Formats: sequence, structure tokens, C-alpha cells
Amino acid sequence: MSKLKDKVAIVTGASKGIGAGIARQLAADGAKVVVNYASSKGGADKVVADIEAAGGKAVAVGADVRNKTEVEGLVKAAIDNFGRLDIVVNNSGIYQFAKIEETTEELYRKQFDINVLGPLLVVAAAAPHLGKGGSIINISSVVTRVLPAESAIYSGTKGALDAITGVLSRELAPRGIRVNAVNPGLIETEGTHTAGVMGSDFQTWNESQTPLGRIGQVEDIAPIVSYLASDDARWVTGEIILAAGGMR
Ligand code: NAP
Repeated sequence: MSKLKDKVAIVTGASKGIGAGIARQLAADGAKVVVNYASSKGGADKVVADIEAAGGKAVAVGADVRNKTEVEGLVKAAIDNFGRLDIVVNNSGIYQFAKIEETTEELYRKQFDINVLGPLLVVAAAAPHLGKGGSIINISSVVTRVLPAESAIYSGTKGALDAITGVLSRELAPRGIRVNAVNPGLIETEGTHTAGVMGSDFQTWNESQTPLGRIGQVEDIAPIVSYLASDDARWVTGEIILAAGGMR
């Protein structure tokens, strides 16, 4: 497939989980990919090696999305390595559920800084390099519709990201840049394993609430992102696409 031929993409948080799957998919569809990581250089290097082994082009670049200077370096790496930028996937994110009584400034700041400030800084740095046909895809979450108990901070960050998606779709439309969100339901990833979600009552509850009767895999999400990144989605902007097996 080559629907993303000649396009260059940045995927934040692509060292593992959903981001790694998106980076592999975009590369398989022809894009050159900047594989961002924060702490897992080994994971990002492995994603790059897999892409190159499959005949694609990619480079691993470390940057904490909370840090403006590092984010500017991430965007510069795309231009320096591949000469242009067309696709930005804001995937980096963390989730930490907590009862409202357990709210701390740290829980709030960490999740809002990575999940909300991060995408804002990335788009601010990337937008000057994106031209007509540019595509920004924000990885939000079905929690903004389902509103699970004990997720006030996390759901708050993703609700903000949904709103930012809508605002930026209007703000960047005159320049021919599209902005959409993909909102997955529960997906099996390194992150959901580490958080103890897999095998928990929360997984069972998700399965029971999902019409298609299972939780998602990374491979369920990546092709949707590739579609939104491609010119096939040229008339699609400002959309919040639930990708949750019918859960809503
Ligand atoms: P994951 O397996 O924990 O991977 C998270 C990724 O984000 C890692 O590559 C990590 O990089 C990166 N990251 C974390 N902090 C960062 C920072 N400050 N700067 C740059 N990168 C950073 O997570 P996941 O489950 O794939 O989730 C990915 C996204 O999907 C998140 O936005 C999440 O909210 C969203 N989502 C997930 C699910 C789900 O059920 N899994 C459902 C809906 C939405 P390092 O490893 O290098 O630190």
C-alpha cells in the first residue's frame, strides 16, 4: 500500500502500545515516520528497526512532550531527516484513575501536562511546517462519552483534547490542515498491562458494555489513524471518531 507515499509523519509516544502500532501502520502505508519516545529508547529503536526491515523509513527521536524546547527539536528532526512534515499524531498519554478524594496536584498536573499541554506544544511547533493536505490526529478516548467513575482527571484531559480538536480544526482549516480525534475504547497495550487493567473487573465491565463483545487491540486503531492521515479523508475534519466496538 502506498496511500501515504511521500508523506512524513511524527507519532508521539510511539515506543510502545497504540503509538508503536500507529507508527508501523503509517510506515506500511508509505509514510516516513519520526518515532517519538520519552524514556523507552529501546522500544522506539525496535519500532524503527521493524519498519526498516519491512522496507520503510523511520527515525527514533527522544522528546518529552511537556517540554517546548524538546518538542521543537522533535519537529526539527522530521524536517532535518525527511525534508517536510505532513502528519502529526498526538498519541503520548498517561492514565491514572483515582477516587475524587484521592485527587492530588501531582495527579492533575502530570496527566494534564502530558495529555493536554503536550499536544498543544506539538501542534504549535508543527503547524508552521504543515501545508495544504496536512493532517493532525489526536488520540483521545471513549471515556469522554462513557465518563467512567473515578476518572475525573483523565476524562477531563481527554474532554479537553476533544474540544481542542474542534477548535484547531476551525483554526487551521483556512490553511488546508485537517484536525481529527480518534477515541479508542479499552485497548490491550503495555500501558494497560502495567496499570493492572488487563484481567481486572474493569476489563470484564468493558467487554460487557461493548456491543462487539471484546476489548480492542492496537491493530483496531492504527488503520483508522492511517485513513485520517491520508487524502482519502480530505473532506473529514473536526470529527471525534469513537473506535470502541460500539461502546458509547
Ligand atoms: P502506553 O502503552 O503506556 O504507551 C504510552 C506512550 O506514551 C509511550 O510511548 C510513552 O513513552 C509515551 N509517553 C508518556 N509520557 C510521555 C511524555 N511526557 N512525552 C512523550 N511521550 C510520552 O499507552 P497506550 O495504552 O498505548 O495509550 C496511548 C494513548 O492512547 C494515550 O493517549 C491514551 O490515553 C490513549 N488511550 C489508550 C487506551 C487504552 O485502553 N490503552 C484507550 C483510550 C485511549 P516512553 O515509554 O518512551 O516513556
